[in-house]
Amino acid sequence: MPLSTGWQPEMDKSSEEKNITKPEKITPMMRQYLEIKEQHQDAILFYRLGDFYEMFFDDAVTASRVLGITLTSRNKKNDKNSIPLCGVPYHAASSYLAKLVDNGFRVAVCEQMEDPANAKGVVKREVVRVVTPGLVTEDQILDDKSNRYIASVVRQKSGRNRSAPGGTGSKSRPLWGLSLIDISTGEFMIAECDDIDSLLDELGRMTPSEILINEDATEDDYDKLLSSLSALFPDLCITKRPAGSFDMDLAKEALLDHFKVANLAGFGCDRMAAGIPAAGSLLTYITETQKSNIAHIEQIRPLDLADFLLLDDSSRRNLELTQTIIGANREGSLLATLDCTSTPMGARLLKKSLLFPLKDLGLINRRLGAVEQLFSDQVIVSIAGRELPLREGLRSVLSLVYDIERLNSRVVLGKGNGRDLIALKASLEQLPFLKRMLISCSDDLLKEIGADLDVLCDIRDLLEKSIREDAPITLRDGRLIKQGYNSELDEIVSILKHGKDLILNLETRERERSKIGNLKIGFNKVFGYYLEVSRARLDKVPDYFIRKQTLVNAERFITPELKEFESKVVGAEEKRLELEYRLFCEIRAKTAEESSRILKAASDIAGIDFLASLGEAARRYNYVRPHVNNDNEIIIREGRHPVIELSLPKGRFVPNDIHLDQTNNEVLIITGPNMAGKSTVLRQTALIVLMAQMGSFVPAKQAEIGIVDRIFTRVGAMDDLRKAQSTFMVEMNETANILNNATDRSLVILDEIGRGTSTFDGLAIAWAVVEDLVNKNGKGVKTIFATHYHEITELARTSDRIKNYNIAVREWNDSIIFLYKLLPGGTNRSYGIQVAALAGVPQHVVARAGEILHNIEKGEFNIRGQPRIAASMIAEHPSRPTQLELFSTPDDPVRERIDKLSPDKMTPLDALNTLYELKQMMVS
Ligand code: ADP
Ligand code: MG
Repeated sequence: MPLSTGWQPEMDKSSEEKNITKPEKITPMMRQYLEIKEQHQDAILFYRLGDFYEMFFDDAVTASRVLGITLTSRNKKNDKNSIPLCGVPYHAASSYLAKLVDNGFRVAVCEQMEDPANAKGVVKREVVRVVTPGLVTEDQILDDKSNRYIASVVRQKSGRNRSAPGGTGSKSRPLWGLSLIDISTGEFMIAECDDIDSLLDELGRMTPSEILINEDATEDDYDKLLSSLSALFPDLCITKRPAGSFDMDLAKEALLDHFKVANLAGFGCDRMAAGIPAAGSLLTYITETQKSNIAHIEQIRPLDLADFLLLDDSSRRNLELTQTIIGANREGSLLATLDCTSTPMGARLLKKSLLFPLKDLGLINRRLGAVEQLFSDQVIVSIAGRELPLREGLRSVLSLVYDIERLNSRVVLGKGNGRDLIALKASLEQLPFLKRMLISCSDDLLKEIGADLDVLCDIRDLLEKSIREDAPITLRDGRLIKQGYNSELDEIVSILKHGKDLILNLETRERERSKIGNLKIGFNKVFGYYLEVSRARLDKVPDYFIRKQTLVNAERFITPELKEFESKVVGAEEKRLELEYRLFCEIRAKTAEESSRILKAASDIAGIDFLASLGEAARRYNYVRPHVNNDNEIIIREGRHPVIELSLPKGRFVPNDIHLDQTNNEVLIITGPNMAGKSTVLRQTALIVLMAQMGSFVPAKQAEIGIVDRIFTRVGAMDDLRKAQSTFMVEMNETANILNNATDRSLVILDEIGRGTSTFDGLAIAWAVVEDLVNKNGKGVKTIFATHYHEITELARTSDRIKNYNIAVREWNDSIIFLYKLLPGGTNRSYGIQVAALAGVPQHVVARAGEILHNIEKGEFNIRGQPRIAASMIAEHPSRPTQLELFSTPDDPVRERIDKLSPDKMTPLDALNTLYELKQMMVS
C-alpha cells in the first residue's frame, strides 16, 4: 500500500468505500462520520478507515497544519462538494496523536468495531478513547521523570454541607476541592484548600496538564480562578464540564462504584465535602474518555497539606527546586542536582518528595536512617558474583528495572504490547535480588521494605513461559507466544512449519499401504488435497479411499485423514494469528488482574530508588546527615549551596555558617555589595532545611535543623512576567503573604526587599517588615534578610534578637575582591559603584557616579538645602526642564529672579550679566 496521506479508494474494499465516491449526496459512511463527529465537536476525530486514520473538514485543515502532512480533498473535480481530508497510517498514529495533544488539541480515536470484510453496509465504528493533554499514555509525550496530572477543581457552594454529621458546624469549611489523577501511573489524590491562593499554590506544585472546571459556575471566584490560571499556567488545558458532573451525590456514587466500597471512610476522605465532587468529576471524565478498564486507579489518597512543609508557588520558583527561574530548565535546579535515581518511579518520587518535604520528626529520621545506611559502605552485598557496597548493589539492579507503573497502566488499559510485557518481566526478575539485599540491612526502614516486597514470581513465571523475547510491537502479526505455552498453538505452528513433511509422510504411508507405487498427493482450489491414482492402478485402490474426481488418465480420492490434515493446514496461518492474539490478550488480562500487587512493588521500588539516590548524592557531593529535631534552632556549620558549588571549580565555593534561634539570632541582617554572595547564602540556608526535611543529607560540615512548618522566600527583584505585574507589586504581594502567614516555626528569607521602589520608600518598608517579624506573636520569626541598604544595619540597635552580618570584600586599588565569607557586623558601604565598574559601565559614568556619591555622603548641599549634584547637573544641562522641576520649589530664588526679568527691555549686555548672575546663584 502506498503511504500517501491522501485518499486511498482501494484501501478499504467494503461497499461503503465505493459509496463515498458519489459525493453529490451524503454517503452512508459520511453520515456515520458526521454523527460521530457531532458527539466530539471539541476534539479532532481520528476516523479509522482501513489502515489509516482519516480526518475531514476543519479537522483535516487543522491537523495538516499542525502535523505538517498533505491536505488533499475528496472529490476534487467538484469544487462545490469537495471535502478537505488528510490521514495518518494507523501503525504510526501514536506519534501524530502525541504531536496534536502536545499542541493542546484533544483527539477522539474512532475505530472499526467489526471486520470490514464481514460488514453488511457501513462498518460499525466507535470512539474508543479521547486523548487529552491530561490523559496521555503515549510514551512520546510522557516525561518519565515527572508525573502527568489532570486536575479537577470545585468551589464548594457556601452553606452546603456546612455541618457534617458530628461536627458542630462552627468550624469554617474549606472552600475549594481539588483532585488529581495521573492516568499513566494510577495515582489519585484528593485535597481541600482554604482559599484561592492556596489552591493556586497547590496547582503550581503539582503542575497539571489539564484542569476540569464547572462550565456553569458564575461566582466571582471562578473569574478570578480562570484569569489566574491562564496567567500563571499559560500551557494548561482548561476543560469546562457540565455543572452536573460536579454534583456531590453523583460524584460520591462514581467513587463508591469505582472502588466498590460502601463509603469513603477507608480512604480517609469521607468528610471532604469540597474534595469529593472534584474527585468524582475527574473519575467520570476519565471513564467517559477512556472507555476502558481503569482498575489501576485503585485508591484515592487525601493530601493533607498540613502534613508537609509548605512552600508557596513563588518560593518554590525562587528556590529553583525543580526548574530554574530563567529558562525554566530542569538542569540547574535542586532536583536535577540531587537526582541520582535509576528508575523513572524513583525519579518521580524524588520530585514529589522535594515538593512535599515532611514535618514529622519520626518519618524524617526514618528516611535519614535509611540514607545513612546506604551512604556508609558498611553493608556489602554480592551481585552476580561481585561484592559491592549495598548502595551500588541496589543501584546496579535498579538500573535494569523499567517503568513498572506505566507498563502496568498500559496493561490495565488494554494497550500493552508484547514488548511491554517483556519489559515488565525483565523488571520483575530483579525483585528477588532487591529483596535479598534489603533484608540483609540493619536499618529498619530498608529491612521493612525488603520484608514487605512481593517478588511477584507468579507473574514473572507466567510471562516467562508465555511471551516471546522477540515479540514485535504489533499484536496481530503473531510471533508473540512462546512454544510450549499452548498445545493448540504449538500444533498449528508445527503444521505450518512441517506441513510439507507431513504431506510427504502421508503420501509415503498410503503408497506403502496400497502398494500403488505412483500414488501422489496433490492440491487444487476446488477439491483441496487429494490422492491421485493412475487409471492403470485403480484396481489397487483401498476401500477407504473416497472418489472425488475423474480425469482422463487418473482418478482422485480423499481419505478422512487427508481431510483432517487439510482442515488444519488451510487457514492455519490465519488461525495462528488469531490464536496468538487471543492468548496474548488473556495473558495481558491475567497480568492486569494483579495490578495492585504490581503497583505495590512499583511503589516499593520507587522508595528504594529514592533512598539509594539520596545516599548516592550524599556520597558524590560530600553531604552530612543533619540532626533534625523539634527545637527552634537552625545551626549550620560550613553550609554550601548544593547547586552553585557544583557550577564552580572544585573547592572554590566558600562555605558559611548560619545560626538562627529565637533568643539572640532571630533576624540576621546580611549586608554586602551586589555579587558578594548574599542571595547564595540565603538560598542555601532554605535549601539545606528543605533537604533535611525531605530526608536527605545536606551540603554542610554539620547541621542542626529544628523542624520548620513553612519556608517563605522573597528573592531577587525581577519582574514576574508570567503574572504580568510590576516588580514592586509582586514584591509587596509576597511580603504581605509572609507577614500574614508566617508562624514562629517558619523560616523567612528576604532578599533585597523594597528594592522595587525609591530608596526611602524601600528602606522604610524593609525596616517596618523586619520590625514586625522580630516581634511577631511575641516570639518572632526566624528570618534572614539580605540587603545592600547598609542603613538597615541600624535596626540591630532596636532589638537583641537582630544581628548584623556582612559578606566580606576586600578593596584593592579602585576595585574590590569578593571573599564570599559571612562575618559578624554590618557594613557601611555598598560598593555599588565598584560593581558597576566591574560590570563594564563606561568609565565616565562610573566617575560621575563617584562624584555624586561623594556629594551625598559628605552631605554637600547648597544654601537652600539642595544637593550639590542638582546644581552641577543644571549647570551642565541648562536646557533640561525636568531636572529644574525636580529640584525647584515654588519659592526658588532663581525662579523669582527670572520671573522678574523683562527680556524685551534688556540689552544684550544686561542679558549676559543676568545669566552670569543666575549661574552664580545656582552653584552657591
Ligand atoms: P548577591 O546576592 O550578594 O548579589 P549572589 O549570591 O547572587 O550575590 O552571588 C553572586 C555570585 O557569586 C554567584 O553567582 C556565585 O558565582 C558567586 N558566589 C556566591 N556565593 C559564593 C560562595 N560562597 N563561594 C563562591 N562563590 C560564590
Ligand atoms: Mg542577590
